[in-house]
Amino acid sequence: MTLEEKVGQMLQLDAREDLDDQILRMHAGSILHASPARVLRARDLTLQTRLRIPLLVGEDCIHGHAFWEGGTVFPTQLGMAATWDAALVEQVARATAAEVAATGIHWTFSPVLCIARDLRWGRIDETFGEDPYLIGELASAMVRGYQGGGLGDPDAILATAKHFAGYSETQGGRDASEADISRRKLRSWFLPPFERVAKEGCRTFMLGYQTTDGVPITVNDWLLNDVLRGEWGYTGTLITDWDNVGRMVWEQKVQPDYAHAAAAAVKAGNDMVMTTPGFFHGALLAIERGLMAERDLDRAVSRILRLKFEFGLFENPRLPDAERIETVIGRPEHVALNLETARRSLVLLQNDGTLPLGDDGTPRRIAVVGPLADDAQTQLGDWAGSSGQVDWLPDGQPRELITTVLDGLRAHAPSTWDIAHARGADILTLEEDPEGAFFPDGQPRPQIVVPVAPDAALIAEAVAAAADADYVVAVVGDRVELVGEGRSTATLELLGGQNALLEALAATGTPLIVVLLASKPLVLPQSVTDAAALVWTANPGMQGGRAIAELLLGLIEPSGRLPISFARHVGQQPTYYNQVRGQHGSRYADLTQAPAHAFGDGLSYTRVEYSDLRIAEPVLGEADTVRATVTVRNTGSRPAREVVQAYVRDSVTSVSWADKELKGFTVVDVEQGAQATVELAIAVADCTIVDAQGNRVVEAGEFELLVGPSSRDETLLSASFTVSAGDAESAV
Ligand code: BGC
Repeated sequence: MTLEEKVGQMLQLDAREDLDDQILRMHAGSILHASPARVLRARDLTLQTRLRIPLLVGEDCIHGHAFWEGGTVFPTQLGMAATWDAALVEQVARATAAEVAATGIHWTFSPVLCIARDLRWGRIDETFGEDPYLIGELASAMVRGYQGGGLGDPDAILATAKHFAGYSETQGGRDASEADISRRKLRSWFLPPFERVAKEGCRTFMLGYQTTDGVPITVNDWLLNDVLRGEWGYTGTLITDWDNVGRMVWEQKVQPDYAHAAAAAVKAGNDMVMTTPGFFHGALLAIERGLMAERDLDRAVSRILRLKFEFGLFENPRLPDAERIETVIGRPEHVALNLETARRSLVLLQNDGTLPLGDDGTPRRIAVVGPLADDAQTQLGDWAGSSGQVDWLPDGQPRELITTVLDGLRAHAPSTWDIAHARGADILTLEEDPEGAFFPDGQPRPQIVVPVAPDAALIAEAVAAAADADYVVAVVGDRVELVGEGRSTATLELLGGQNALLEALAATGTPLIVVLLASKPLVLPQSVTDAAALVWTANPGMQGGRAIAELLLGLIEPSGRLPISFARHVGQQPTYYNQVRGQHGSRYADLTQAPAHAFGDGLSYTRVEYSDLRIAEPVLGEADTVRATVTVRNTGSRPAREVVQAYVRDSVTSVSWADKELKGFTVVDVEQGAQATVELAIAVADCTIVDAQGNRVVEAGEFELLVGPSSRDETLLSASFTVSAGDAESAV
């Protein structure tokens, strides 16, 4: 290969731009954001090159093949996390891989393993929430699902663990800001899920945007070489995030020019450089000037080529396959799986007994109100349809493939019921950013959100409908303009006319059922705290409206649990449950510190009682397993699907540590009137802390096993166990 051909292999370029230039002049090895037509065009161009090296085609298929018209759009990752069901998440990834592979795409930039911290961050919806154990369980299931039976499997696609690592430790929630984070803190909470998927064979890792201790992750030798490739023995491919190499020059200003930036990125061990066209010339210049050697390139290029060989792309470039597309995209099994995932993702947070709205033969009148009651595209969330990252679906996904809450209630409520609808409020309008429509790298700058004022006429119409109804279902939340990269929010409030609408609805006295359709936890007004019922749904995907209607009507049981805590006030940030012990007092002078709804929370339509937590053998060595049983009794009148959660508290630690951490969970079905004995097993080797030197160790002494329906102390049963000295205190 010539030098140019080698440098080109390292480039992943934006297929919406000049493909001829990218492939014929720059010899690009990979493209992303390629519409179906562009994938075929790119293949034709590749065949005109000297070496005809097949392209790797990447896309963000992060909750289904959501940029393919008619592809199955599942709930967002945060919604999937609310199911607490790794097997279900694996099936979602398997179905996604089948759809994606059929369309000539080889590589998805998913899953996101970032740990949710500040709720103002615009990418909370892309995470599996705030707990490293839950993230690890679900992410590894997703990787298994995508990569299927290995690269020879025609339905396998490459998974990407992103964004390695610490990207979510923002300042004030501001996207990609400096992550002020120590190595010990990284090892404590941020790295464990990545370590897990690295060891399980996730084929690619994407490097975050941010700098830590002044060093962009792209050139963080400790993280990439000592930890990832060294300690964890990772042999997969590293890809930068969008223009990370260029950003070192024009944004972070830690490299004087593209030649230096290219040399630094290659020497740090990056293999694929996403969307930095300037890398092509920069890398060639760097070699000419002696900033790096050709063999530095060889290491990266050979890793990329090996991936292409192992994938069999030289024999079969895995182009779009019309026949498979016809049978696999949106196939009935995927629609059914999507509906099941949406159902399982719904979290019932409040209920005074109003729900479910059972059918006792009396015709009912329901007012379905709110700006999101019939907003099909918003239901899909970010990275889907018209959310903005691609340009070939300007109108979003086909409306007829999406059921909104209004559609769902109309279709599934008894035929004698009357379903009225009024929008009641709008949320926002958009204005140009005074700093201009584009960032310095030419990327579009998101427009500015301007919340709209409450509209008296819209509210009056909704109030009239509510006053005339037996129940009002208000569907409120956020919109995609408030979600995503560069769209972090300063507040967590319901914007626009929504709070005024809710207050007016509450004043009618009609029982108010709030469906919070929100990409992330929001701060809710008193009218919601006082409402008859509250259901949270992250963006629930194409089948979301049907799933919500079924839940409200009692056709299914609520079983989702929060993978993330809800704040009462934006100033409470951070609100995650697993915080480190030690502060003066436990509240603010003017507000409690307790979240509105805590990690693990979620109600059923029945009552579930926990009792008899017993540990079989309470004195253990490090190689042992804590084995416990707990009785879960359904004392209500409907079936329960309970997520039994097990936390561990290390009573005294050599350095400060989280007061408790999730270490296991089991989903169990218990019929009304029945009880189940649930067995729990937690390896002592997992009851670790990270010591002052950064080593993960089990420390001998007293521990508490806490078992119950949520992370809140008052809901948990406790039993003690002891890890005896001698076996313990070794690094694991
Ligand atoms: C995001 C990544 C994404 C990439 C490609 C970046 O801006 O941070 O998560 O995979 O774009 O679309």
